[in-house]
Amino acid sequence: MGWLTDWRRRRVLAKHRIDDALWASATKSIPGHGRKLRDLALLFLAEKRFTGVHGLEVTDAMRVSIAAQACLPIVELGLDWYAGWTGIVVYPGDFKVKRESVDEDGVVHEWDDELAGEAFPGGPVVLSWDAAAHDAQMNVVIHEFVHKLDMLNGEADGVPPLHAGMSRARWVEVFEAAYEGFCDAVDRGRDTWLDPYAAEHLSEFFAVISEAFFRDPGETRRRYPDVYEQLALFYRQDPAKGPA
Ligand SMILES: [Zn+2]
Repeated sequence: MGWLTDWRRRRVLAKHRIDDALWASATKSIPGHGRKLRDLALLFLAEKRFTGVHGLEVTDAMRVSIAAQACLPIVELGLDWYAGWTGIVVYPGDFKVKRESVDEDGVVHEWDDELAGEAFPGGPVVLSWDAAAHDAQMNVVIHEFVHKLDMLNGEADGVPPLHAGMSRARWVEVFEAAYEGFCDAVDRGRDTWLDPYAAEHLSEFFAVISEAFFRDPGETRRRYPDVYEQLALFYRQDPAKGPA
């Protein structure tokens, strides 16, 4: 990112710190990450701008909690993977967005979607604080930030920019096989370990299984060994092994 950014970041790390109690409470559910995550979260807080809407006042506890979770996928990648945008918009609860689509006959359909989070290419990440704080079934913060990584090389399609030495063909093969098997199980009405929402699109499958990779890595590796291997290469982390 250049010397100016490096200098600014070194200054932030030298002059600021995250309060111990806030950090302890923000990382209760993500143990095993030490100094590196904390430094990254501090830089994240310095470089991103939080905005509360619908009367929500974004507290320091909210900011630190969101920063800690958002930085988890990039602990080994670096903050530049979230460069080019600054806004994080926080709603008190789930929020409605207007959707519109035109069908083959030229008829416009409009409907309301209720969301816990949304990520815009090159723009902000929008989060429901209620979902971020209380929804045990999903990790909306990790989910939306994984979409941001996916969008770095164009539309979210389940294939983020892979590192040198990784094979795009292998990634696509492994993910498509897992995704097809998963959609099939959902179609048959079977109980699935992952949230059935993952069947919506390959990009959703990538975001949902990434949540699982960080929240329950051992089980993710057991159920989806090939996908786990690709995720470990991409995130440069092997959380099932325990902290490095
Ligand atoms: Zn999503």
